[in-house]
Amino acid sequence: MALNPLVDTRDVRFALFEALEVESLTKIPKYSAFSRDDFDSFIDLAETIAVEQLYPTFAEGDKQGCTYVPETKEVKIPPCYKPALDKFYEAGFGGIDVPEEWGGMGVPQAITWACNEFLCAANYPLMMYPGLTHGAAELIEVFGTEEQKKTYLAKMFSGEWGGTMCLTEPDAGSDVGALKTKAVKQADGTFLITGQKIFISSGENDYYKNNIHPVLARIEGDPPGTKGISIFIVPKFMVNKDGSLGERNDVVCAGIEHKMGIKGSATCTLSFGDNGKCVGYLLGEERKGMKIMFQMMNFARMGVGMQGQGLASAAYMHAVTYARNRLQGVHVTQMLNPEAKSVTISQHPDVKRMLLWMKSHVEGQRMLCYYLYLNYELEHLLEGDKAKESQALVEILTPIEKSGCSDKATEIAGEAMQVYGGYGFCGEYPIEQMMRNAKITAIYEGTNGIQSMDLTMRKILMNKEQYNYSVMKQRMMETVQKSKGIVEDKYIELMEKGIKKLDEVIEMMKGQMASGKFLHLFMNATPLQQAMYMLVMAWMHLWILVVAQPKMKELVGDTKGADRDKLLKENAEAAFYSGKVLSSQFYLGAEFPKYFGKIDALLQGESAIIKASDEIFTGALAE
Ligand SMILES: Cc1cc2nc3c(=O)[nH]c(=O)nc-3n(C[C@H](O)[C@H](O)[C@H](O)COP(=O)(O)OP(=O)(O)OC[C@H]3O[C@@H](n4cnc5c(N)ncnc54)[C@H](O)[C@@H]3O)c2cc1C
Repeated sequence: MALNPLVDTRDVRFALFEALEVESLTKIPKYSAFSRDDFDSFIDLAETIAVEQLYPTFAEGDKQGCTYVPETKEVKIPPCYKPALDKFYEAGFGGIDVPEEWGGMGVPQAITWACNEFLCAANYPLMMYPGLTHGAAELIEVFGTEEQKKTYLAKMFSGEWGGTMCLTEPDAGSDVGALKTKAVKQADGTFLITGQKIFISSGENDYYKNNIHPVLARIEGDPPGTKGISIFIVPKFMVNKDGSLGERNDVVCAGIEHKMGIKGSATCTLSFGDNGKCVGYLLGEERKGMKIMFQMMNFARMGVGMQGQGLASAAYMHAVTYARNRLQGVHVTQMLNPEAKSVTISQHPDVKRMLLWMKSHVEGQRMLCYYLYLNYELEHLLEGDKAKESQALVEILTPIEKSGCSDKATEIAGEAMQVYGGYGFCGEYPIEQMMRNAKITAIYEGTNGIQSMDLTMRKILMNKEQYNYSVMKQRMMETVQKSKGIVEDKYIELMEKGIKKLDEVIEMMKGQMASGKFLHLFMNATPLQQAMYMLVMAWMHLWILVVAQPKMKELVGDTKGADRDKLLKENAEAAFYSGKVLSSQFYLGAEFPKYFGKIDALLQGESAIIKASDEIFTGALAE
């Protein structure tokens, strides 16, 4: 296989098998047919497909972009994507986690998402096509009738048909409840849909033979707001009784967006029912559309977190490769020596700082993502209190993962560009494309502002007796207990202090809620989310240290100086565990202390934002 510049495979295995002990899933009846070797084979296969098929289309797909053909209202995706998508589906990744009944392989979520990290790192704009298809099919799997499942699932998971997610309208972005798309019931039980959806990823494309749109709409006469929303399956081509394709449905693409990044992903405006003939089939019950779509949205939010993580991983890996090869300047200890030879930039303290900063974020986030997906699985596999605890963790960690990993995607791509210097800014290296691709992850699938409000209000303050938070706190304390005697006290104390400080903030917010100071809560939602991301990352790094520190001691012991350098050169495992320990120590000792500044700012209770009425933004008025 070609060199993997995308994801550190060794670290993927560390997170999955050494820290999270995912192999233990093979003891559960549902997964008893799998072995650790099987899990390794899936990861190897994902790495091969990512490196050999998807990544070679990363730059090319960006150049080719998507093309709209006004005469036929069709969209052509980058031609180079098609063979890569074929290989993705041939390898079975379209239904990797899906039951065999629908042609899937039934692989556990944590392994599935580790595979997805490779695929997203390689080319996440391409992955939007199968990603949305999988999400739409999953909706039908959970809420569809037996007939709907038989009609759509196998074809969607195999990649013959595609899928989308149709929420957004010109006047209904974050406020989905404001949608205007209308559904009128017909005598035969179907519905006629009319309206327009914008920004629909994969909305029209020339890869799939049919496109299945889950569409949010309001049935005529139903109440306004989110309570009156239903969801409909709207196929691009009608499906005959025998499963073959019938007539074209009355849904067309009216155009595509020209975007800063993810140019290979078609972002479409879809018109439903221009000729009054767009047929939709109710999915689930009437007026339960938002609840149903949330199933897809929650999963998609986790997926967007992974898009950010995959991109960050690829940016970091590229920066490491570049820094270890680029000769520039002499070593800082040789600055006064005119004979000194140039060294690679990876040896300059400031570049090391950037690399370690990226490494610690990428590795901490990897743990966070896999831990989240593991709990998403356990929520359904376990029973009683244990299942409830996993559900609580999924609820509270999803907005943290989505916002944290997506915000960091832009920052990490920016830092990677900094490592490249001027070359990073230029098109011949992939970093500028990564930077252009990163930002959207913080915007779609619920902006990070919306995620933060969801975290603060629904997931913490309005959650009965703050159960979600208490479960997370209990799990953090368990890691603290395990770390005693293994990890240096100073890191443990920081973590303990961090938890206490968050308690203080939450108590303050509970008081604000009780006294009706809602504006205070909403203005602080994003700072709270950002602080919680840092605390969760510190938790993940403490966990990493619990596992990695003893291994590092075993392999490196007290070896120092030139002997240590030699050992790390010759022994890849010793180098790996040393890297793990340094990365986590860096996060806890150099990055996490900034958390306390964020917490102090929250406790300060500054209310300037509340007084900032439209009139004070005079710059805008002057225009
Ligand atoms: C490339 C791309 C792909 C997309 N794919 C899809 C897709 O497949 N399907 C789909 O349905 N949609 C899709 N979207 C739409 C996307 O989900 C929306 O753009 C996003 O939800 C934000 O809506 P908006 O753009 O209307 O921004 P607005 O809702 O107007 O928000 C603008 C700003 O105001 C803030 N804001 C808005 N309301 C509030 C509030 N109540 N409180 C605090 N802050 C608020 C937001 O956080 C944001 O910062 C896509 C968008 C893009 C650009």
